[in-house]
Amino acid sequence: MDRNTIQKIFIGLFISACIFIGLHISNMTSIFGNLDIPKQELANNSSSSRMTYGRFLEYLELGWVKQVDLYDNSRNAIVLASSPELGNRPQSIRVEIPVGASQLIQKLKDYNINFDAHPIPRKSLLVTIATNLILPLIFIAGLIFFFQNSDNFSQNAGNSPMNLGKSPARFDQKPDTGISFNDIAGIDEAKAEFEEIVSFLKEPERYTLVGAKIPKGVLLVGPPGTGKTLLAKAIANEASVPFYSVAGSEFVEMFIGIGAARIRDLFKKASENTPCIVFIDEIDAVGRERGAGIGGGNDEREQTLNQLLTEMDGFKENKGVIVVGATNRVDILDAALLRPGRFDRQITVGLPDRLGRLGILKVHAKNKPLNEDISLVQIANRTPGFSGADLANLLNESAILATRYKKQTISKNEVNEAADRIIGGIAGSSMEDTKNKKLIAYHEVGHAIVGSLLENHDAVEKVTLIPRGGAKGLTWFAPEEDATLVSRSQLLARIITTLGGRVAEKVVFGDQEITTGASNDLQQVTSVARQMVTRYGMSSIGPIALEDENNDQIFLGGDNEAITDRIDNEVCKIVNHCEKVATKIILDNRVIIDFIVEQLLDVETLNGDEFRHLLRQYTLTPIKN
Ligand code: ADP
Ligand code: ZN
Repeated sequence: MDRNTIQKIFIGLFISACIFIGLHISNMTSIFGNLDIPKQELANNSSSSRMTYGRFLEYLELGWVKQVDLYDNSRNAIVLASSPELGNRPQSIRVEIPVGASQLIQKLKDYNINFDAHPIPRKSLLVTIATNLILPLIFIAGLIFFFQNSDNFSQNAGNSPMNLGKSPARFDQKPDTGISFNDIAGIDEAKAEFEEIVSFLKEPERYTLVGAKIPKGVLLVGPPGTGKTLLAKAIANEASVPFYSVAGSEFVEMFIGIGAARIRDLFKKASENTPCIVFIDEIDAVGRERGAGIGGGNDEREQTLNQLLTEMDGFKENKGVIVVGATNRVDILDAALLRPGRFDRQITVGLPDRLGRLGILKVHAKNKPLNEDISLVQIANRTPGFSGADLANLLNESAILATRYKKQTISKNEVNEAADRIIGGIAGSSMEDTKNKKLIAYHEVGHAIVGSLLENHDAVEKVTLIPRGGAKGLTWFAPEEDATLVSRSQLLARIITTLGGRVAEKVVFGDQEITTGASNDLQQVTSVARQMVTRYGMSSIGPIALEDENNDQIFLGGDNEAITDRIDNEVCKIVNHCEKVATKIILDNRVIIDFIVEQLLDVETLNGDEFRHLLRQYTLTPIKN
């Protein structure tokens, strides 16, 4: 039975119990009213007749009592009496007998009075038991069941109302994540830091002996898919300590206080299981800077964050809870989170470089039969900018393609096809031979030629007229090495090359024939040029950071509008200059371009070597920009 049906059954039981109680409410009044005198008897003598217990005793002594009927455990009596007061006619009189008047029966016997005790009727007793005992029992049993039920399932985060304040963390007492440090490649610095943390957890004495404080929190910072989760799983496994894993977004709730309650619950559980690791993925979801955002921020999130801060401060001396957070947006995290004593350590997990990619490919190629024609080195060269996840995906896609083509091993073909797919989207069918196709050919060759002639630009990897993703044609460049530091002339070369496509259209077909196809190129150009001005200080405005990573203006004081104007001016200057350079290159090399376009229209795809082979038939002068 799954949890939903169990809940439904319980709710059904609950409702029928309520209805049952409702139906018996009339019965219950008689029970709660502890009076069970037959109604008609009361009705008979409703008019006059009540007397006090004291008076009843006097009647007894005077011999005026004829008969006594005891009800309700001798707490009420209907007395048949006749007296001069009553006009010497026998009358039924009701008497309330005080608790503890135990000798009454003896007295009745002594005076030889005819008496009878009337027990509470059987049926009524049953109903009493039913309503007083069974129903509450059902109710309590149901509640217990409900709570237990939610307890059992609390590990996979309940939406049940009973679960709201419980931490949705998945918990592994004996983590066998199956991931060891050997499965992680290309992020060696991060790995080394983590290996140290494993030794904190395994032999804390070694550190405390020399007075070293064990870090409470480790923040993994880097783009998605670079192996942050993988690292966290690996330390849990290698240190063989319990592992709690939760995503920051799971603390984001609509109702104020729930996120905070979940955090409290998580840390409570963790502190009962030390030493252990608490992994919070996407920690930016809770750790976003307080008071940021429109409308004065979000109370619920602030409470949640405050709770997290409190909990991390809570364990003064680290007794073995290490919190590992992962984010790709460290810039938006609240500064309080990064203070010493919270996330003491920040580990940057970047995109892998060439050797890193090679390492990652080796890890993921382990269980895949590769054909001899595959060179992992070549794939690594071809895939700058790929994350670990992209590379894993690349090999997986290749394996799927190999299966589709009914091959026993994965060959170069499949890898190339998979790479093209991942980079550019799924290939469409080739275009009809129309004017459009020719225009696109000029556009792509424009990019390729300009890029090839510029000294500071990467080499052509592929030029194709096969539509892919949203693009009608594509030109790829493969950087030799990963560039984390890019020079001004490299950035300019990128802009010139990106403009090359549209400039070629313009030169060959004229102003009137320019198409909308270059809109993507133009966006890219504008973005690079703008960053040069506002972030890298590469314009005549000077070395001032005017915007942050999110293109939000940094307030400098003074006239903001004037600064915006100056930025726009500088961006235009850069783009105009680059367009001039691109136009000159296209005009100077028109013959070569015509020749290559002809070839490209024929074969539709040229790889880097084929392209360079064609170029070699001409003498070219490299251009410095
Ligand atoms: P993140 O948490 O940084 O977004 P993950 O750790 O979830 O990324 O990585 C997703 C997948 O990508 C992993 O399961 C693994 O298959 C692969 N991967 C990512 N980085 C690496 C790496 N450095 N070495 C090996 N595999 C990796
Ligand atoms: Zn283009």
